[in-house]
Amino acid sequence: MFELKIITTFAAAHQLKMVAKKCENLHGHNWKIEVCVVGNDLTDAGIVMDFGQLKNMVSEITSKLDHKYLNDLPFFHENNSSSENIAKYIANELSAQLASSHIKVSKVTAWESDDAAATYIC
Ligand SMILES: [Zn+2]
Repeated sequence: MFELKIITTFAAAHQLKMVAKKCENLHGHNWKIEVCVVGNDLTDAGIVMDFGQLKNMVSEITSKLDHKYLNDLPFFHENNSSSENIAKYIANELSAQLASSHIKVSKVTAWESDDAAATYIC
């Protein structure tokens, strides 16, 4: 099996409920997002999929988060806008886009700072 990884970033504001202290205040992060997809098969060109195509798909998803107040988005009405749920949101959206292909999302990691990240493993 092959795994591809792409990295992108977006900036947004959020407010966490029911967590500890200062995270409950409105604040922002520059999230770094790592997206991994897996596939068993290679195309005739010897690739799982085109990196550019994967980057475009992820960019379409993160553009809905970039420079937004995450708590305003419907998904984060029901789910706290934590890095854990951001990773899950991106994994779910990308999985839907890849549903008809042989490629699967394996994991998405959301880095909210240089030393803190949450990974959703599909
Ligand atoms: Zn935060």
